[in-house]
Amino acid sequence: MADDVTRVALVTGANRGIGSGVARMLATAGYVVAVASRVLEEGESVAESITADTGRHAFAVQLDVTDSTSVRSAVATVVARAGGLHVLVNNAGGHYDVGATPSTVGDHAALAALEVNLLGPWRLIREAVPHMRTSGWGRIVNVSSRSGSFEHTWSNAPAYGVSKAGLNMLTVQLANELAGSGILVNACCPGWVRTRMGGPDAERSPDEGADTPFWLATLDDDGPTGGFFGERSAIEW
Ligand code: NDP
Repeated sequence: MADDVTRVALVTGANRGIGSGVARMLATAGYVVAVASRVLEEGESVAESITADTGRHAFAVQLDVTDSTSVRSAVATVVARAGGLHVLVNNAGGHYDVGATPSTVGDHAALAALEVNLLGPWRLIREAVPHMRTSGWGRIVNVSSRSGSFEHTWSNAPAYGVSKAGLNMLTVQLANELAGSGILVNACCPGWVRTRMGGPDAERSPDEGADTPFWLATLDDDGPTGGFFGERSAIEW
């Protein structure tokens, strides 16, 4: 893909928190950015603010990652409006079982975590990869968590950790499938970040949390694929 082509990025859960920060950084770096959010008006407000502040093009698309129809429609809208899709940041995610234990977590919380944190990114990947293959260039960033790492996990949100471990495995399998295609696929942990999920006592600002996903979304062609990163460095699976 020629260097002078404007690249198009889709960031899920970009109406707030880390996703909003990644979207703003990508726009500042010159990408056309689709700000995807469940509530369209919230995405529109972020997109308008990014466009006003950076002078770059950002627009909103409605997206619920648990709804295949919404996922298909969001990707089709991005391609129709911006002419392609080159970067996918699977950022949308949630906690559903904080305080539970592995032996007590119920089906409802387990299914919710898997739906949003694992199947959601998977649905986006299925829709986005054909467009990346068309341009022979792509970057897929799965915003995971150290709770999904065998090395670092903790047990007070077990469904969350299991869903992120699944996302890590998907990252490796997809990177293997796409090796040599020009599409780089990586997972990352943003650290403990002051968002609605991370809470006010977390150690990192949303922009600090957005830095590693942004870096992975903008990797040079000789960048890594199939890795798990925190603070722009490889971390243990
Ligand atoms: P926030 O709670 O601030 O944001 C979560 C985002 O995900 C919101 O935009 C939310 O949309 C969106 N979302 C949730 N469910 C869906 C859905 N079904 N469809 C579409 N969007 C959805 O959290 P963070 O910014 O902190 O989290 C971003 C990512 O970072 C997550 O994947 C999280 O697991 C990961 N992470 C965060 C850490 C932290 O300390 N904050 C630590 C490790 C990982 P809505 O506004 O509509 O609810």
